[in-house]
Amino acid sequence: MLNLRRVCFVLFCFLIANVGLAAAQHESAPVVARHLVGPLHILKCNDNAQVLASIGEDGTLLVDTGYPQTADAVRKELTELGSDSVDFIVNTHSDLDHVGGNAVLGKDAVVLAHPVTRLRMSTYFALPEIPGEGIPNLTVAGDATLQFNEDVIRILPFPGGHTGGDLVVHFTRAGVAFLGDIVLSETFPNSDPAKGGNASRTAEIIAELIETMPQDTVFVVAHGKSLTKSGLGEYLEMVEGTVAAVKKVVDAGNDLEATLKARPVAPWSKWENAEVGLTVDRWTYEVYAGLSDAANVSICAPLTETLVADGIDAAEKLYRHLKASEADAWDFGEGQLNFLGYQLLMRSMVDEAIKVFELNVESYPESSNPYDSLGEAYMAVGKNDLAIVNYERSLELDSHNDNAVAMLKKLRGN
Ligand SMILES: [Zn+2]
Repeated sequence: MLNLRRVCFVLFCFLIANVGLAAAQHESAPVVARHLVGPLHILKCNDNAQVLASIGEDGTLLVDTGYPQTADAVRKELTELGSDSVDFIVNTHSDLDHVGGNAVLGKDAVVLAHPVTRLRMSTYFALPEIPGEGIPNLTVAGDATLQFNEDVIRILPFPGGHTGGDLVVHFTRAGVAFLGDIVLSETFPNSDPAKGGNASRTAEIIAELIETMPQDTVFVVAHGKSLTKSGLGEYLEMVEGTVAAVKKVVDAGNDLEATLKARPVAPWSKWENAEVGLTVDRWTYEVYAGLSDAANVSICAPLTETLVADGIDAAEKLYRHLKASEADAWDFGEGQLNFLGYQLLMRSMVDEAIKVFELNVESYPESSNPYDSLGEAYMAVGKNDLAIVNYERSLELDSHNDNAVAMLKKLRGN
């Protein structure tokens, strides 16, 4: 189970990507275009992820490309807006709902991203179903400027807020800044430590944007309504307020469980959006994780690379080797293999997912969640006996595991 109280959270963008997948199969027009200003248009994919397009005499530039499933519909909208091909793509970060259309939309384009985005895409996203031709071919680690469609476009790295590779794209003449997922204007941010994000850093980035961007800038975000500078200021107050509240509890000597229990973020609960997993608990965890800077590089990164190149057996061998020889250099936390296993499950690589969940059970035999995840993977391939054994063990270790109770009921057909 992807348990919100565990170290590995299901990533916001994967959650909404999944919602997106389901929606894409039913909706005939999953992309809606809206004119913003001058050559700029916002294309909303599946009523959720927003792509920004500059269409003019010089051609077409896209900031982000939406889901893989909406790429053809984005292409169609662009054609209706007078664009015959895409010349530039800027990816604000590596989540699937931001890079998923790269392969279809960026065939003849220069694709720019932060080096960390490229790295993440060539590891996690090199797994099947994410075509390799969508990988960025130009990386931007420092400020870059592009003269395009009569605007001066600044591409500004602000890594470490939402992910380790966030870019902000500032259309200086139009007065528009696209913030990707650094800010989710209507909910708590998602400063995911598993992807190099950090809640305190998110607050710093927003403060810097407020300080450095022109007064009348319109801040467009990928999920949610656009903000003025004063709206961004209110958002910053929430982020700073919650970070300070959690810090106070942590400074008093509380661990994660105790901090969650104290609910320091409760006064800001109107910012919760449980539907996409952005709950008070989750944000509390992310702030907590950001304050305790224990984050080593996830063991998922080298494992995924090896899995793609040489298969699951080679990845397992590498896991055992690194655990024996470099245990301190990598994050071997329980959530890591859990995360990788779900990445594989989402791509229907069930055999590989089972192997990864089995490794996690072996590493954390006294923890409930790895058994729950393994049960889910066995259930996915119809190995119900093995699924039952694992859900039972999970429930033994955590009697509050309602998911295991529900799954056992389902598996036993009563
Ligand atoms: Zn997103």
